Amino acid sequence: MTEFVLPPPATPSVALAGSTERFAVRRIFCVGRNYAAHAREFGNDERDPPFFFTKPADAVVDSGVEIPYPPLTSNLHYEIELVVAIGKAGFQIAREDALGHVWGYGVGVDLTRRDLQDQAKKAARPWDWSKAFDQSAPCGALVPAAKSGHPDKGRIWLAVNGAVKQEGDLAELIWPIADIVSICSGAVELQPGDLIFTGTPAGVGAVRAGDTISGGVEGIGTIELTIGQPSNA
Ligand code: MN
Repeated sequence: MTEFVLPPPATPSVALAGSTERFAVRRIFCVGRNYAAHAREFGNDERDPPFFFTKPADAVVDSGVEIPYPPLTSNLHYEIELVVAIGKAGFQIAREDALGHVWGYGVGVDLTRRDLQDQAKKAARPWDWSKAFDQSAPCGALVPAAKSGHPDKGRIWLAVNGAVKQEGDLAELIWPIADIVSICSGAVELQPGDLIFTGTPAGVGAVRAGDTISGGVEGIGTIELTIGQPSNA
């Protein structure tokens, strides 16, 4: 048995709907832009191939938590997203085989320090500090694909303090789930435990400390968060 000089870190994980078991998270991939209207609000050609960025696995937090307003930003944005949970390893997966690698689905929020992202874009620097911070990947309970099926349509929405801000449909995904899994697996070998945040519909915006975020995907699940005061050192 390997002996570690310090105790190994806890395994990040996501809840399962209707179960006390949890889904161990290995990596988090996120698609940059995947709904035509959201791509347009950022001035992009909706036919561009998808691109990916990542968050640390331990950025996942459960639905229902309070997330402290993060440091280095005054423009924290929500992005509601369908989350794909990979259950079977695969490298260079063909599109027609891709859904067979999906264990299940969830609803996540890709929290984004938009002001840092804008600065990074202007300076042609990496996005990491804008996307990959502590508690930046809240994800609601997963539902197994065996139960939900593989969604190709369904309402996706997000509300702040009860007012709907984002409203879309999975049918508007520029690159559907099978394409995303296939294309992502062309870059890295996907493994069980990998999550893919599949992009957000139009209507992204800022939240402040004290705001409550709620959202969902029809037939998949919901998520609820509160943004708290900044943590003190
Ligand atoms: Mn996103």
